[in-house]
Amino acid sequence: MSEAAGYDDLYSRARREGARARDALLARHAWLQSDVHAWPVGWAALVERLCGDIAKVLVETPLPGFRVDVIREKFGGLNVQWLPWPRPPDDQSVAGRRIAELVAAAVTQSLATCEICGRPGTERWLEGLPDREAATLCDEHAALTERA
Ligand SMILES: [Zn+2]
Repeated sequence: MSEAAGYDDLYSRARREGARARDALLARHAWLQSDVHAWPVGWAALVERLCGDIAKVLVETPLPGFRVDVIREKFGGLNVQWLPWPRPPDDQSVAGRRIAELVAAAVTQSLATCEICGRPGTERWLEGLPDREAATLCDEHAALTERA
């Protein structure tokens, strides 16, 4: 593996490709805010499925004022924030509970999905990277984070 194919470059590319996946979702779902953060492309299918499932819930049981204002990677896992408050367990609406379940399942899944390539991965704490505390990676991409 050359220097140019190191983890930092791969992660930058994964975020750029993730931004393209985000733009496609923004065009499809009005409740996705335009300032949602980017997520790495390894999770693109996972986030697309989550948004599709949320859209189905909203068709069946509309949730007035609903919007997702943050989707991002945080500490190696997917982080999703939405409005309105209150959220479960205070939110007794069917749609609110269902969306919370969908988000929780997606977060769990992100912690088992390589953020670079989408293959099975595990969450790892990173020592060699300056700006990242943790990442969920397959073995191949985890090996790239270890500096010689
Ligand atoms: Zn990978």
